[in-house]
Amino acid sequence: MTNVYRFIDECEDKALLGNKGANLVTMTKLGLPVPPGFVVSIDAFKEYRNSNTLPMEEIDEALAWLGESLGRNFDSGLMVSVRSSAPVSMPGMMDTVLNVSSRDQMVECLKTVFGSWDNPRANEYRRLHDISADIGTSAVVQSMVMGNLDETSGTGVVFSRNPSTGARGLFGEYLPVAQGEDLVSGVRTPQSIDALKTQMPNVYEELENLSRELENHFHDMQDVEFTVESGKLFMLQTRSGKRSGQAAVKIAVDMVEDGLLTEGEALLRITPDDIRALLHNRIHFPERHQPIARGLNAAPGAVSGRVVFDPLEAVAVAKTSGGVILVRPETSPDDIQGIAAAGGVLTSRGGLTSHAAIVTRAMGKPCVCGAEEVTVDLENQSFSVGDVVVRKGDVITVDGSSGSVYQGALALLEAEATPELARLLSWADETKQIGVWGNADTAEGVALARKHGAEGIGLCRTERQFTGKLRLDAIRDFILSDSNEEEERALANLRELQKSDFLTLFKSLGDIPIIIRLLDLPLHEFLPTELDTEDPRLKQRLEDLQEVNPMLGHRGVRLAVTTPRVYAMQVEAIAEAQAETGARVSIMVPQVITLQELLWVKKHIEGKGFRVGIMMETVRACMRAAPLAEEAGFFSFGTNDLTQAVYSFSREDAEKKFLTTYLDNSLLDDNPFEIIDVKGVGRLMETAINWAREEKPSLEIGVCGEHAGEPRSIRFFHDAGVSYVSCSPYRIPIAKLTAAQGAILNPRA
Ligand code: PEP
Ligand code: MG
Repeated sequence: MTNVYRFIDECEDKALLGNKGANLVTMTKLGLPVPPGFVVSIDAFKEYRNSNTLPMEEIDEALAWLGESLGRNFDSGLMVSVRSSAPVSMPGMMDTVLNVSSRDQMVECLKTVFGSWDNPRANEYRRLHDISADIGTSAVVQSMVMGNLDETSGTGVVFSRNPSTGARGLFGEYLPVAQGEDLVSGVRTPQSIDALKTQMPNVYEELENLSRELENHFHDMQDVEFTVESGKLFMLQTRSGKRSGQAAVKIAVDMVEDGLLTEGEALLRITPDDIRALLHNRIHFPERHQPIARGLNAAPGAVSGRVVFDPLEAVAVAKTSGGVILVRPETSPDDIQGIAAAGGVLTSRGGLTSHAAIVTRAMGKPCVCGAEEVTVDLENQSFSVGDVVVRKGDVITVDGSSGSVYQGALALLEAEATPELARLLSWADETKQIGVWGNADTAEGVALARKHGAEGIGLCRTERQFTGKLRLDAIRDFILSDSNEEEERALANLRELQKSDFLTLFKSLGDIPIIIRLLDLPLHEFLPTELDTEDPRLKQRLEDLQEVNPMLGHRGVRLAVTTPRVYAMQVEAIAEAQAETGARVSIMVPQVITLQELLWVKKHIEGKGFRVGIMMETVRACMRAAPLAEEAGFFSFGTNDLTQAVYSFSREDAEKKFLTTYLDNSLLDDNPFEIIDVKGVGRLMETAINWAREEKPSLEIGVCGEHAGEPRSIRFFHDAGVSYVSCSPYRIPIAKLTAAQGAILNPRA
């Protein structure tokens, strides 16, 4: 036989039999009580699709065998079910026929099941889950057992462990005097599996033992369909059970304890989504709710709250009545207190590396940004999406994991870090071959990063320390100063503030090292929005500072080239705070393009004994990696700016203007600001890494852009040979898992 396989034929090839068919063969082989049957293979399905013919000779032969082994044929009471069995799970998408009781009927049913591969429901499911239509399905013909025969009959579905919590022991439903369809269709409400335990304890015990046997065989939690016919148990189907993130982690860790998995296998079983679900609140049944708007999934987690448009009001409302969602066209450093007070943030502009995205991600607050359909009307304190108008005080829910915005407060599932996750991550720590550091600008950020297991702080953005009125005014005084004296005064003031900030920061470090990035000040972000425009001096100064392209303008090291004292001031403040605390500090220079810039900075901060590294975030720096490596203490790739530079896409505007259209039309596979573009940015990084390591094999090379916390990007960074990734604190566990998976699947020499 080549097109039809009996369960006893021991062919377990899923590409031929599909999952259900192959697992029935396995269960038969293991000696489990499986009603006999056969599988009309996927090859036969393909042939049927081509030529509309079925392998009738083989089907007849298999049917004759079935009749013989049961001692009855269609004429004497044989009944079969005909079900689909594809190599990928497509639950409920194709047709199933039960109680088939003639020759002719069965053939029709085979055609129905094969035909259902192309029904609109199945097509849509495959489209949504990116499943190719070419893989096809087999059809399983199995003799029926009657769950509706008498009082000691019934049908049920059990998981071998609890799919929500991962707890050991059977979990599921039982419906007495019923067939599988009664259970699936929801016509009758099933009882808990405990009902079977009470009614037929022996059958329950057998089911428990067989489920365990299946787990031991497949080394995974099973989802089992069974039927009891007159007190006798039959197993109808088994497959790996779907599970929550919490259950996935607990089951994997418990299975290592049970000797069913190695630590490495357990690490490979867990997906970043499993961990994300464990660490962030989620919407309960999101599919039951219709979002009013969608934007970018900037920072994960779901939260509900009252809409507030003014950042200061957000602080006040959060204090008096809790739960606030700050809604802004975009955010700036001015809004930081409002963001800190809010439970979540929604913006209508800005991409995945915008201010709102970076700041909320660092704080672990859900954020949907760049929701373009949302029109924010600050004056009238409302926002609208089509016909829907949401006013100040109305309650909304933002889901930063999916980028969706909903009206009202939706039911949420609470995040809960578990001891099993800690255990799993300790294995990840032992396995991974790259460091996982955290990005943090404040003592609170450092505390968060340490709590999540950061091995260092790989990026402290000093410009992000200028929050709150006192510090913002101080930095603005510096930016707006137009005489030497004014600048001196402003820098002296900044120096004091910086020193006290660094002191607090360094004290929070424990024994982990920190990389302080000297100011990278996109001037436009720090200019006051409410100006006394009557003041002609200020007006003039503001005009002087105007730039058409501020993100490609007078920022980073370029500001230090024109005003060397600014970096000197910072390094003095760092040195004093370091001397008082003994912190392990390195210094990093942003936006470098030439060796001369690096030497220039070094000259102006001379004598302080710090390791001075550079951010690799311009194309030219990558092209000059070898000479830069000679002089630099370390490299850290700033993949946000590097992506901006390689694509010539503005990281602030691309997403809102055209990037979504590119993605919708498959002109780009992924958002390059979210997932590293391996073929472009990645190749440039690899080239730079190779040239740098040829010059200095031991050079430490990190990545501190937003990609450093994104799983697919981390896999690439591991392969490309970086020393560590540094990401926002909440992404550290996922980064550790992914780094460990990289080390298992593609170990470094
Ligand atoms: C980067 O460009 O990747 C980076 C980390 O710096 P920033 O996002 O602060 O420009
Ligand atoms: Mg940068």
